[in-house]
Amino acid sequence: MQAWFHQKSGVLATMHRKEQAIAPILKHHLGIEVVVPLGLNTDEFGTFTRDIKRPGDQLNAAQLKAEKALALTGLTLAFASEGSFGPHPSLPLLISDHEIVLMRDRDQGIEVIGQALSTTTNYGHQYVTTLEAALAFAQKIGFSDHGLVAMSDAEQIQSSQIFKGVTRESELVEIVTWLLKKFGQAYLETDMRAMHNPTRMKVIAEATQNLIHNLSQRCPQCGCPGYTAVEHKTGLPCALCGFPTDLKLASTHRCQKCDFSQLMYFPNGQEFADPAQCLYCNP
Ligand SMILES: [Zn+2]
Ligand SMILES: [Zn+2]
Repeated sequence: MQAWFHQKSGVLATMHRKEQAIAPILKHHLGIEVVVPLGLNTDEFGTFTRDIKRPGDQLNAAQLKAEKALALTGLTLAFASEGSFGPHPSLPLLISDHEIVLMRDRDQGIEVIGQALSTTTNYGHQYVTTLEAALAFAQKIGFSDHGLVAMSDAEQIQSSQIFKGVTRESELVEIVTWLLKKFGQAYLETDMRAMHNPTRMKVIAEATQNLIHNLSQRCPQCGCPGYTAVEHKTGLPCALCGFPTDLKLASTHRCQKCDFSQLMYFPNGQEFADPAQCLYCNP
């Protein structure tokens, strides 16, 4: 697969040092030299601290970043990543980090996405009214390897003074002491920007590995990378009673370049579902 991208330069739309997680993987597997553009402000596509709202969804934000990086550099290959934090889609009591890493190749006219969903995240926030509580929260979220954001009030972002990228204890003590004195409270949250969050950086690397995996799937007709499933059909029969379950029965793979497509049965390699997944056997 190296031949498709070897020694090409690809621009990575980041100002949060995501190249640390992404670039070595792209170089190793695809031979791509990653460049990071100067003067790219990805914050205009939304920030985690909500002072700037994120337009559209996660994928859309990554697409906008990639487009901006292509326009800025004149290159034809771009990468962008976008994270989202919240309840796990199937285990809602757990907080998860969902990362996507997108590749847009203008020469080939293709866009391929890698994803990772991890419950390993320090994502969290808390109001505090004492310095001790602030320090306890800091310790819980892995400060100071992981950064913090501090403000007076999360509900009134406009009037709140926001301190981002706090990574020194002396700085944290000074800011929290000042906020407590002035407002009687402080709101702390984890800084989720990649360069202040090594835990998140690892999940971004996982999503990049998934992108490599998806690129390695080639169109049987033209060989184009990124021949991945675009649609799924549920209804895998239960191993015990044959009742159709919500598990995947078939997936449609489609080539973005030549439009060749195939319906493939049993995408998870199993012809029957575990009866534990069956609404009839295990209601
Ligand atoms: Zn094809
Ligand atoms: Zn059954």
